[in-house]
Parts: sequence; structure tokens; C-alpha cells
Amino acid sequence: MISTAEVKQIAKELGFHACGVSRAERLENQAERLFEWISKGYHGTMSYMERNTDLRLDPTMLVSDVKSVISVLLSYNTGELPVNLNPLKIARYACRTDYHTFMKQRLWRMLEVIRERFGSVSGRAFVDSAPVLEREWAVRAGLGWIGKNSMLINRALGSYVFIGELIVDIEIEQTPHYESNRCGTCSRCMEACPTGAIVSPGVIDARRCISYLTIEKKEPLTTNEAKMLSGWCFGCDVCQEVCPWNARSTRVDGAGQGTSGFHDFSTTQFANMTEVEFTARFGNTPLMRAGYERIAKIIKLSKKREA
Ligand code: SF4
Ligand code: SF4
Repeated sequence: MISTAEVKQIAKELGFHACGVSRAERLENQAERLFEWISKGYHGTMSYMERNTDLRLDPTMLVSDVKSVISVLLSYNTGELPVNLNPLKIARYACRTDYHTFMKQRLWRMLEVIRERFGSVSGRAFVDSAPVLEREWAVRAGLGWIGKNSMLINRALGSYVFIGELIVDIEIEQTPHYESNRCGTCSRCMEACPTGAIVSPGVIDARRCISYLTIEKKEPLTTNEAKMLSGWCFGCDVCQEVCPWNARSTRVDGAGQGTSGFHDFSTTQFANMTEVEFTARFGNTPLMRAGYERIAKIIKLSKKREA
């Protein structure tokens, strides 16, 4: 059996900040939680969450002969604050090259290196992929706990981390360490959430969450939803900004994670961009997930309320 230490070493060589391994099996403990969340309608219009729940809970249905799930973390906590174009704010992770691209590339490279060192291995890489409950896999790999804000929190890195998985058909020793929940009596994230979207510890009602409203919701925002945005036009970092684990977390060098397109940029420029200009400047960033039209509409709504 391959040791966790060997896999962790490969992850480190490739620039990941943390890595752990868990056994590929059905996430029995998540089934009830997931079904309850969906039955309460907390997923909003993300109807894809209602589909393929079996695949989401069981990686053995995603990849044949799967044995192990390798989870990796890449911190993007470079110390930069969320972009605040006052009154418009953009979540930290969105102000650089879309992480899906470089995380996937690194994961595929990791699979190649594993093959070079250990022989024939089949697997698939996932990054922020709907069929995979990535935070739970990271917890099982000993990489942290799920905070009351529902984010994975790593003791050293905090929650500003990208999570990825390699699901492979080889036996790898599991990470022996399992991190306990260290939120304790803190509830800063629940108190700070501007919309009351954290309905109970670790449970988010997406319909009230600014991240969902600005990124995931495809339909036009209602008047009430538009009022909830608190100046955010893509994502929201409030429940992470207030987390003491982020305040004390290790800052990383953001080299290799792309650059921000927001340097020397003003709200007025942002508000007056044409679609062509928007794509030229932000075409390689997560902002494209929402797209020009949606962001332009949100900016207009914000400016209208400011006036
Ligand atoms: S992302 Fe923002 S709106 Fe969503 S739960 Fe966190 S603080 Fe609340
Ligand atoms: S702010 Fe406090 S309660 Fe919320 S995730 Fe961080 S430590 Fe946990």
C-alpha cells in the first residue's frame, strides 16, 4: 500500500499547501443532511442539487474500482483584502485567474507523477465539481473541519483555500489525523452575515446568501434580493473575513495563481465597461461565471440604491 507521506510529498512538490487521503466510500453521514437541506428548499434554484444525489454521496459510482480520495488544498490567502471599489465589492478568490484551470492542471500532473512513481493508476480530478462533496472529503482527509459558516477551515491555512480531489483506483494509506471542530463558542460568522443566511451552524439557506444571489442564481433578482446584496457584486466574504482562524492563518505567496485585473481600476470604469472590455480584462477570472450582463445589472442596481 502506498503511504500517505509519499502522496503528501508529491502534493508539496507540485505547490499544494496541504494534502490528505481518505477511503473512497459512500458518505453515509452526509445523506440525511443533504436531503434535509434540499427538502427545505435551501438550494434555491440550483435544481442540479436535486439530481444525481447518489453520485454526490458515493464516489464509487463516479469512477470504477475507485479506492482512495486524495484531497488537496491551495491557499489563496495572499493577504489581499476583497476588492472594494466602494460601493462595489468582489470576493477575494474572484480577483485572479480562475482557479478551476490551474487546480485541475496541477491535479492531472499529480496523477502523472503518481503513475511515474507507483505504476498504472486510473483516476479523475475534481475541482469545485457539483458531483463531489469536496468539503466532506477534505474533512475525512484530516484537512480541517466545517465551520459554522459552512466553509472548510484548516488550522494553519484558514478557509481561503481552493479544494480539489483526485479519485483513484489504488489503495493509499488513509491520513491518520482527523481534525476536531474548533469553532467552539464563537459565532462571529453567524452574527456578521448581512442577510441571516446561516440558519444554523454549518447550514446555509442559499436563497439568502449573497454568493448564491450574485453567482449561482440565473433568474433576475427580485427587488428584495437586490436589497440584500450590501454592495457585493460577485460573491461575498463577510463570514470568512470575521473568522478568527483566517486572521491567524498563514499568508501565502500568490505566484502561479494569476493576477488581479483590478489594479488601477475604479468603480466608474467597472460600471462603464462594454462586454468586449469586460471579457478582455476578466475573461480568465471567475467573474465569467456570472457573466457581463448579470454583473452589469447588479452594478446598476447598486448604483441606483446609492443615488
Ligand atoms: S457568503 Fe455572505 S451572505 Fe453568504 S453566508 Fe456568508 S456572510 Fe452570509
Ligand atoms: S467565525 Fe467563529 S464560528 Fe464562524 S467559522 Fe469561524 S471560528 Fe467558526
